[in-house]
Amino acid sequence: MTLEQEIAKRRTFGIISHPDAGKTTLTEKLLLFGGAIQKAGAVKSSKIKDHARSDWMEIEKQRGISVATSVMGFNYNGIKINLLDTPGHQDFAEDTYRTLTAVDSVIMVIDCVKGVEMQTEKLMEVCRMRSTPVICFINKLDREGQDPFDLLDEIEEKLNIKVRPLSWPISMGKTFKGVYSLYEKSLKLFTPSKTTVEEAIEISDINDPVIDQLVGENNAKQLRADVELIEGVYPEFDVDDYLSGNVAPVFFGSAVNNFGVKELLDTFIKIAPTPIPRETTLREVEPSEKKFSGFIFKIHANMDPKHRNRIAFLRVCSGKFERGSNYTHVRQDKNIRFSNATAFMAQDRETVEEAWPGDIVGLYDTGNLKIGDTLTDGEKFFYTGIPSFSPEIFKEVINKDAMKTKQLEKGLIQLMEEGVAQLFTFELGNRKVVGTVGALQFEVIQFRLKNEYNATVEFAPQNIFKACWISSKDQVKLQEFIDSKQRHIARDKDGKLVFMAESKAWLQMVQDNFPEIEFHFTSEFKETPEALNQN
Ligand code: GDP
Repeated sequence: MTLEQEIAKRRTFGIISHPDAGKTTLTEKLLLFGGAIQKAGAVKSSKIKDHARSDWMEIEKQRGISVATSVMGFNYNGIKINLLDTPGHQDFAEDTYRTLTAVDSVIMVIDCVKGVEMQTEKLMEVCRMRSTPVICFINKLDREGQDPFDLLDEIEEKLNIKVRPLSWPISMGKTFKGVYSLYEKSLKLFTPSKTTVEEAIEISDINDPVIDQLVGENNAKQLRADVELIEGVYPEFDVDDYLSGNVAPVFFGSAVNNFGVKELLDTFIKIAPTPIPRETTLREVEPSEKKFSGFIFKIHANMDPKHRNRIAFLRVCSGKFERGSNYTHVRQDKNIRFSNATAFMAQDRETVEEAWPGDIVGLYDTGNLKIGDTLTDGEKFFYTGIPSFSPEIFKEVINKDAMKTKQLEKGLIQLMEEGVAQLFTFELGNRKVVGTVGALQFEVIQFRLKNEYNATVEFAPQNIFKACWISSKDQVKLQEFIDSKQRHIARDKDGKLVFMAESKAWLQMVQDNFPEIEFHFTSEFKETPEALNQN
């Protein structure tokens, strides 16, 4: 097959949802269709349930499971689908944000009883930043949920995206009858079942009395009224509006009953984007370019602390990746050969000889690779759009065992490279402050430093509201600012300057007082490639 053909058959996407909306269940059904697994229950949930006390076994288990199910590749109707898993637990949101940089589109699962939940809103913001195309799957129609029109309004309002229903539910809960596909003009009757898939019934005319026979007169009447309203209110579905991230097509179903999932998948492979061109510091790179390039979006430490090797997850963006070839590690400006590369096919891992745009490859690494690193076939550019976001909780690292300072430093660096949290080193006194999105990470860090590096730490809470990356066109003004705010200036992992703001009000005041200084809430803003290169 040619490079173009390989690209045309690939769809790389992620499923996002608020915990418990049905992400794991939907993933499992999709894998069943792909023949990637034989029976239901084979996909382990990779979530950590909210718990008051930390449960170490659970966290360790999570790490194990998340390697196994991080990427699930499967074939369906001649299409190679790469599904990237995202942790649902909000404390791991940063990991989810980064995974979203490696997908080309997203399926968002919404619980019809609970509607749009907080975590969904946050994830949608990340999708919008990158104009990622989104398909909504409204789940659990076998339960008494909210009115479907209200749900659509809520999605438009809370997620700030236009919607276009492509299927429509006929009643719900105990009296749920099925869905009418507005796209295929067919009716699918609901039969609670976990594995079998009923054939859809073609309906050429919505006024066909066969609908009355199948779902009852009242339901048929309601359906006709709903469809008329939909056709009147929502513009005709246009694939380009979906691909540009402006309109989200909506499907209704019940994942646990495997209902509406096939329709979702069939439409998905028709409309979802093939691997898209991506921005770099030099230019936009097309997937069809002959030369290989890609970036690292996730790093996973080996479960065995005796072996320090890690798996780096590479998203192939252009050309063909070949095992054993020499590629340029742009940040380190050196060539690396990866003789050990893994493909992720559902739950098996297998050695991969070659990979194509859209594919995810696992590279065994002994510490050369960081999240955000670019690998190319010689050209010197960096993929952009893999920023760090300002963390929300900050704590100073207190070393409790002076004899183990070296181990602590090494451990901290490695954990940060894995993306567990962000480290900020203050200019004054070399204080080290760790920033995370959730409280759970501090426990993970403390535990892993002890377990894997034999270093003992405690954490001291810090009065910090946000980490703001700072820059200025005027270097003199920037230096003046640094001098006057010395106690609050730190460096991030790449040595970039960060202002640690204590409160929202105070930050506002500082911004007003220093109009020449730009404050950024993510680590990525327009810079020259040289500046990006500094370490
Ligand atoms: P996740 O946290 O988003 O991965 O959610 P899960 O897939 O683990 O689902 C959470 C719970 O909802 C589980 O108990 C599922 O069995 C249940 N569930 C999933 N889909 C449906 C559905 O269509 N109907 C009903 N009633 N329950 C569902």
